[in-house]
Amino acid sequence: MEKFMSKYNNTLNNGKYVFQRKPRICRQCHGNSIATYLYGEPNEKAVLMFETGKYAPAGCSFEMNEYQRAWCCNDCGFEFYKKADGL
Ligand SMILES: [Zn+2]
Repeated sequence: MEKFMSKYNNTLNNGKYVFQRKPRICRQCHGNSIATYLYGEPNEKAVLMFETGKYAPAGCSFEMNEYQRAWCCNDCGFEFYKKADGL
């Protein structure tokens, strides 16, 4: 299984799809509309960024996990994870 996954340049960790950089294509629906998560309380500037579809609100709570939600699919909501830096 791991060998199979490495073909796609990511690793499956506890059901989380981990990417090193922003994926271009959704693994689930194959859509190409992927948004980058922004953490924290959204301000006016952030709201404008969400409207472009290039960014999505991740909420205020930053998960202290090895893997962070980093991107999501605008079409089906599939979430992509990134290995946190410095952990
Ligand atoms: Zn999708």
